Amino acid sequence: MELATVLMLVTTASLTPITSSAWLWFTLLLGASAIHFEAAQGIERIREAGPEGSPYTHMQSVWYFAGVLLLPLPLLAALIFLSFTYEWFRVFRGQAFAYRKVFSAATVVLAVGAAQLAFAAFFPGIGTPYAAVLDGPLGALAVVVAGLAYRLVNYALVIGAIVAANPEQPARKALGHASDQLIIAASVGLGYAVGVFTVDRPWSMPILLVTVLALHMGLLLPQFRIAAHTDAKTGLVDAAWWSDRAVDQLDRARRLARTVGVLMIDLDHFKEVNDRYGHLAGDRVLTAVAECVRHSVRSLDLVGRWGGEEFAVLVPAVGVDELHAAAERVRAAVQTLAVDTHDLEGRDVTVTGLTVSVGAGLFPGTAVELSDLLLAVDGALFQAKKQGRNRTVMAARIVAAQPDEQRTA
Ligand code: GH3
Ligand code: MG
Ligand code: MG
Repeated sequence: MELATVLMLVTTASLTPITSSAWLWFTLLLGASAIHFEAAQGIERIREAGPEGSPYTHMQSVWYFAGVLLLPLPLLAALIFLSFTYEWFRVFRGQAFAYRKVFSAATVVLAVGAAQLAFAAFFPGIGTPYAAVLDGPLGALAVVVAGLAYRLVNYALVIGAIVAANPEQPARKALGHASDQLIIAASVGLGYAVGVFTVDRPWSMPILLVTVLALHMGLLLPQFRIAAHTDAKTGLVDAAWWSDRAVDQLDRARRLARTVGVLMIDLDHFKEVNDRYGHLAGDRVLTAVAECVRHSVRSLDLVGRWGGEEFAVLVPAVGVDELHAAAERVRAAVQTLAVDTHDLEGRDVTVTGLTVSVGAGLFPGTAVELSDLLLAVDGALFQAKKQGRNRTVMAARIVAAQPDEQRTA
């Protein structure tokens, strides 16, 4: 596939001159693609790590299809490769299969090539930007055919690869969800609008960019029902959702031979806060601590509410030292918290001196199964409490149980 892409680019490179307008559109589309990634990175990271053997669909097609209407193929290919590279570093941060991303990028370049071929068939000898000539029923028909060519080439190549790589799974799963097709159809349609408007009015781009971002979040957030898995008090994801993501991350780490760290964080003597200031103040403190934990870890680390005043953090791709440092960063941050609230008599109070105890463990160093890992981390948290609280304890390695041997932590 990669060879076919290179061949296509080499043979077509000199067909269309690259104008200064094309460079402007290229820069605008690249910028829009990057902003789009930044806005959607949280949700996309979760979506991409989803079930193995299903295609991963996203809305970047808006910018790629707009590029079909605006850019000569070499610039369009550059847009796609730069966009995928950006995604690699900013969204997945190396936590994905490089060969799959290269393959995906190649299929997209072939797909935009097919779409431009369709336009060339409708409007021979004109060349980019096609956005300038798409008038009348013929123009509309050309957009539909080019959109179908774009989708079908990309889809067929990706599905073919998934089926070939997962011969044991039913082919139906490789087709993905029907909603994916709608997402792509909408993206292609919006890409058309971006292309047509941008050719005369580059300033329409920011407006369309915001539209795309709003739609993306609006459509995909409910699909992943994050809201339904969000704990109302703290705004963190709940334990069930956190566990599902932990299973995904461990699966992925197993395949990639990577690590995943887990932190369990429990507020020290939290009952005293409730007893002294009341439950409402306690709730307020809990929310502040949740926020504090979230800001103390990286944006790709997933913080969940594990129980009453207990938090769990999923920390992909860290070593023991980094994990320990992350735990200590959380601990130090909570210590500096000052939470303004009201006591039982309604007086203003500032709750300070909060501390947490932290248990930490690592896949695969501590344990290779999630249940064992959580058990070991919980044990470490218990040790931290026993040793006097306000500290981090790293879980010891769990030795895989031999038939007659006792499991030791
Ligand atoms: P330690 O963990 O250091 O042993 O002491 P602790 O006081 O935190 O002990 P424990 O874990 O046994 O108690 C947890 C307390 O957290 C009990 C409950 O009053 C409080 N709690 C749990 N969930 C909530 C909540 O949603 N809101 C409020 N206000 N309090 C909560
Ligand atoms: Mg506690
Ligand atoms: Mg507790």
